[in-house]
Amino acid sequence: MSDKAKPQPRAGILDIAAYVPGDSASTGKRVFKLSANETPLGPSPAAIAAFRQAGDHLQDYPDGDATILRQAIADFHGLAVDRIVCGAGSDELLALLAQAYLTAGDEAIYSAHGFMMYRIDILAAGATPVIAPETAETVDVDAVLACVTAKTRMVFVANPNNPTGTYLPFSEVKRLHAGLPGGVILVLDAAYAEYVRRNDYESGIELAGAANNVIMTRTFSKIHGLAGQRLGWAYGPAAIIDVLNRVRGPFNVTASAIAAGAAAVADRDHVDRSVAFNADWIVRLSEGLSQIGLRVTPSVGNFLLIHFPDRDGQRAADADRYLRENGFVLRQMGGYGFPNALRMSVGFDEANRGVLDALGKFLEPS
Ligand code: PMP
Repeated sequence: MSDKAKPQPRAGILDIAAYVPGDSASTGKRVFKLSANETPLGPSPAAIAAFRQAGDHLQDYPDGDATILRQAIADFHGLAVDRIVCGAGSDELLALLAQAYLTAGDEAIYSAHGFMMYRIDILAAGATPVIAPETAETVDVDAVLACVTAKTRMVFVANPNNPTGTYLPFSEVKRLHAGLPGGVILVLDAAYAEYVRRNDYESGIELAGAANNVIMTRTFSKIHGLAGQRLGWAYGPAAIIDVLNRVRGPFNVTASAIAAGAAAVADRDHVDRSVAFNADWIVRLSEGLSQIGLRVTPSVGNFLLIHFPDRDGQRAADADRYLRENGFVLRQMGGYGFPNALRMSVGFDEANRGVLDALGKFLEPS
């Protein structure tokens, strides 16, 4: 049968390797899932109550403008509500940006260990991914700028980045923006912004508010504990928000997500507790892992990239197997260019202590 006799996707689509989510399978009895950067503290009780109430109206379409949610976000961050658009996870908004602004022949840049969906979104739009090298597992502004050509249309930066947990200070983000041609969109993906406690960090609100080629994306999946609801938002110039509103589905965010998200934004105590819990454990885990001889990339997020020594039986894959046998599911990072590292999300006390203990035993000379 000739190829013409069967449906064919656009050129490039079959080059996409599908995203592999963090799994929860383990051979041990109790399982701690530390593979998807979910929060151990879960959502705000107010968000759960709002979600349950939404269950009384399942027959009704949601508000296509997600008005109460956009208003809650605008109120908290002090933003103009008409410059906010919500999506089914920030994943949807990142994909829509690529689809609306990229086409065949265009180039879009991300950094060597940048979040995997950028590659998929760029290829799905028919464009060409361009990978900028990093320095010290961190986005290198000069290296990104060196990749810019007349074909560049978009630059994706996760700040902080997943899976490295490293971040760019605001001065560097500004320098990156200043070096880009006006027609190139800088996408600042701030999925982990709430976790960052650094004076020199800014999530992107300032630039996305002032420049006409910067957009910031955020998620409810991490600090707000609503990953299962699929909810994210973007803030940016009116013209880009207008484009996203044209291409998104009319009811792209569910009624329960709108209700739960609005309640979650308003519960600052819950967010503060989650930030404090994470800040405490990121330090304890980083120190604990260093003490047993493992290098960790300094992280400002809710996860750690753990590097294994290249000795027989102590490679990341072996450690992963050992941890799974003991009920701890982390994430192998070969797909991100770290064949000998595991990424661990900060979990409950018991899970974090358990991983430290298990890895200590795993590394003991036999
Ligand atoms: N950006 C980054 C950097 C992420 O790590 C993730 C989640 N893995 C996302 C975006 C997507 O998050 P969501 O679609 O759940 O909002």
